[in-house]
Amino acid sequence: MRILIISDIHSNLEALEAVVSAAPAFDVAVNLGDIVGYGASPNEVIERSRQLGTVFVRGNHDKAACGLIDVAEFNPIAGMAALWTREVLTPANLEWLRDLPQGPVRLDDSLDAQFVHGSPIDEDEYVVTLRDALDPLTYSSVTFTFFGHTHLQGAFWRNGKEAFDAVHPAYPVQDAHESFEVALRPEVQYLINPGSVGQPRDGDWRAAFAWFDSEGLRLVFHRAAYDLERAQKRILDANLPPRLASRLAIGR
Ligand code: ZN
Repeated sequence: MRILIISDIHSNLEALEAVVSAAPAFDVAVNLGDIVGYGASPNEVIERSRQLGTVFVRGNHDKAACGLIDVAEFNPIAGMAALWTREVLTPANLEWLRDLPQGPVRLDDSLDAQFVHGSPIDEDEYVVTLRDALDPLTYSSVTFTFFGHTHLQGAFWRNGKEAFDAVHPAYPVQDAHESFEVALRPEVQYLINPGSVGQPRDGDWRAAFAWFDSEGLRLVFHRAAYDLERAQKRILDANLPPRLASRLAIGR
């Protein structure tokens, strides 16, 4: 099965469209949550995401936008964006967000993979460092766990009891579209973050995603350039905090 894995789109329609154009052929698209929040196209992004696939995990921004959690838990800028999102979402899209499943989500029993927003232990946990990855990798026996939430593209793995390591893709060229393949090994357990489609925070402004072939055992990270100015203009036109537009240009 060839799976397109996307996460943290954050209402950035231009970035999502660039991902769809750059993505290799896939059988299933899996969305790891934070579909909305920060950006200015929440309804459009929900509708486009639903055309792409039916497998979703909810993120913390999805919960905040539809009122499942209090925005007081957010920093002021994220909270303002969540309240703005709640106001502009159609009633149908609000209800759809409210019904999104909590991770871990599985695709089917034959595939030894699970999909979460934060970690398999806690949907809101941030797995940033190798140290953060130790517990989720030890707690779960699933071979492939795909997660988002940190907006940092990369993978952690565990080989037996003691050996843990990490990889973060290096893209020397920063072209319109680049990919980075990770050599997967059998018997090794992986935690894989496709990165953020709509608000990357690893210093690379381009939209991030991952492509996974479960039969060929291939994992490829991708970055795709998108119409940044247009996404920024939408944020400014919506009177969202200007910082949400400027940070997109630096990938932070
Ligand atoms: Zn996010």
